[in-house]
Amino acid sequence: MSAAELDRIEALLPNWLEEKRRKCQYGKVASYIPELSKSPAEALGIHITDAQGRSVAGGDSRLPFTLQSISKVFTLILALMDNGEEVVFDKVGMEPTGDNFNSMLKLELVQPGIPFNPLINAGAIAISSLIAGSSTTEKSARVLDFLRLLAGNPSLHYDMDIYRSESDTANLNRSMAYFLKDNGVLKGRVEDVLDVYFRHCSVQVTCADLAQMALVLAHDGNNPITGESLIPRRYVQIAKTFMVTCGMYNASGEFAIQVGLPAKSGVSGGILTMVPGKYGIGVVGPALGRKGNSIAGVALLEALSQELDWSLF
Ligand code: GLN
Repeated sequence: MSAAELDRIEALLPNWLEEKRRKCQYGKVASYIPELSKSPAEALGIHITDAQGRSVAGGDSRLPFTLQSISKVFTLILALMDNGEEVVFDKVGMEPTGDNFNSMLKLELVQPGIPFNPLINAGAIAISSLIAGSSTTEKSARVLDFLRLLAGNPSLHYDMDIYRSESDTANLNRSMAYFLKDNGVLKGRVEDVLDVYFRHCSVQVTCADLAQMALVLAHDGNNPITGESLIPRRYVQIAKTFMVTCGMYNASGEFAIQVGLPAKSGVSGGILTMVPGKYGIGVVGPALGRKGNSIAGVALLEALSQELDWSLF
């Protein structure tokens, strides 16, 4: 059944890609990380992988881009595996914020001053400080190894230009991190925590890597192709729930209604999503809409989900 559906997607994709790509003109490539502004504004690509290892890909699916906020799903999972739920949710909350992804407004207003959830920047920076390891180098290496394992791609690496560009200009994230340190949320030196964070945001992937990582989440933490168990089911459940409630920032509600799948976007234009029990999906489209998600990527996923009745709700 899945093979027939993939054939149908393959037949539909070229038209949809052409149609949705036109939406790119209404979006903007992120430029607050200066190096990101070099991304191709007209690009749109997708890769879908099923549990038998069959794939459909189209458009600019081979375009390399950085994980950015998509990495937050996986640092959350690793921090849960390292510390357990109690420790993690003592430092980070579980609720959507209603604010921008880089807002520090509520940190001061709402007690006990821990970030609202692990997918906004403040929460993900707190999560970076919960990654086990005796040095910053070891912590970052553990995150990278985990991402390589999930993507089944041992050559995943950092885009050092993006890493440096973000690290050199991250005044807002830096101020947020110092604030968190003062609130007792961060362990260790602030600059070390930020270094772990900037590195995982700058891991370079393609849509195929995202699709493979998503496939593991779609199968409760197991790689359905090799049969390996990579993540405890409970932690996948937590991650997927956050993806539904907070994964697309302030557009998470609309995405849940229009697409109805767990998803996480990044400011590079990537979206990782999945049809639970079936597919892992990676999308890229660097032109972003007002709420920081790929404008053409979201439109493409809306079309696919509605045509194929993928919504979980
Ligand atoms: N590295 C980016 C930042 O901290 C991640 C944000 C995003 O992808 N939305 O600003």
